[in-house]
Amino acid sequence: MNDASHLNPLDQQYVWHPFTQQQGWSEETPLMIERGEGVYLYDVDGKRYIDGTAALWCNVHGHRHPDLDRAARDQLDRIAHSTMLGLSHPGATELAARLIEIAPAGLQRVFYSDSGSTAAEIALKMAFQYHQQRGDTARTRFVRLREAYHGDTIGSVSVGGIDLFHATYRPLLFETLAAEPGDADHMEQLLSAHEGEVAAVIMEPLVQGAGGMIVHPEGYLRAVRELCNRHGVLLICDEVATGFGRTGTMFAVEREGVSPDFLCLAKGITGGYLPLAATLTTETVYEGFLGAPAEAKTFFHGHTYTGNPVACAVALANLDIFEKERTIERLQPKIDLLDRRLAEIAAMPGVTEVRSRGVMVGIDLGEHDPELRVGHRVTREARERGAFVRPLGDVVVLMFPLSITEPELNELLDITAASIEAVVAALPERAAS
Ligand SMILES: *Cc1c(COP(=O)(O)O)cnc(C)c1O
Repeated sequence: MNDASHLNPLDQQYVWHPFTQQQGWSEETPLMIERGEGVYLYDVDGKRYIDGTAALWCNVHGHRHPDLDRAARDQLDRIAHSTMLGLSHPGATELAARLIEIAPAGLQRVFYSDSGSTAAEIALKMAFQYHQQRGDTARTRFVRLREAYHGDTIGSVSVGGIDLFHATYRPLLFETLAAEPGDADHMEQLLSAHEGEVAAVIMEPLVQGAGGMIVHPEGYLRAVRELCNRHGVLLICDEVATGFGRTGTMFAVEREGVSPDFLCLAKGITGGYLPLAATLTTETVYEGFLGAPAEAKTFFHGHTYTGNPVACAVALANLDIFEKERTIERLQPKIDLLDRRLAEIAAMPGVTEVRSRGVMVGIDLGEHDPELRVGHRVTREARERGAFVRPLGDVVVLMFPLSITEPELNELLDITAASIEAVVAALPERAAS
């Protein structure tokens, strides 16, 4: 243990945290995480917390997995970073081949970047430019889903649909067509009404994560794919959250036998270790960008740390662990346990709905005065009880590492249930529920 009392004032004086109202933050003591082991986080005082967020939805095999640690160290012994602009490197090359091997048929090309937001932006720009270069110049619009989340940069916010996060920026954004999640008829109406104008539909397949774990009805994704085909529209599936096993299969699109024109990957791609993203696309789209330099069909996009070698090395080790530890296969009994326990939680007072698919969980505590900060209070209670969870408004989200054991999962669910119970019991008006 070490004395970290000097850190809190420094955090409060200098650091501005993401998605955080700093006024509230500075009234509380920051939780300083110093190390991790498996599904546990340890703060600077040595107190242990089960990681119910998987480091904000990206950790897969637990913290400090020896294979991932070794992959990073071995790469550091060779080189930390070069560039993908004008150079290549073994890790990015091998990883591209491995991703194509596990991705749905039809996806043939890998474009790297470094965050989920950029993975989505790249797909948007590629889809737009693809149509332009084919002479289909009227296809300039995008269809997105209500409550969609594709990242925080201006382009990805443009296709976002969460008013709390996105409404402020409306004047800066390009206009989009908003489709009702899960409603294929509405999608059909939009595509028909805007025949020949739509470049692509962008969606999170099966589950809209940041929108509050909105689970689509079965068959919706398949129906959207067919509609896109019929209307000459490209389909972008953003699997930044759902990818790498979260819904119980490697990729969510597999569940409905869908192959999108773009697959956006980030979060779990390095097992939650390092920033890396990939936008996968088809040979057809790729070929639309080929031409003599003077034709200017180049995709003029690339980030400094695109395809970073350390991140690629860890991403390769991540895929190896999926095979070696049979991660997906061994997830199924945990999903069964989770579903049984969630049915109990759904029956608790104050819980209006539990939504889940695989190991993506949203426990909805209903509509409350935002001043009450119900979701936040559950987080505080959970912290006292030894778990770190983070809500989306008044939806308590569980997104633990896939490597969680059954006893650890029970521990997390016990803490979550007890925390919800404590907060609900203390609410001023219980009459509503
Ligand atoms: C988290 C997320 C993003 C953004 O990823 P960043 O790495 O935070 O930029 C994009 N799409 C989805 C579906 C996400 O869940």
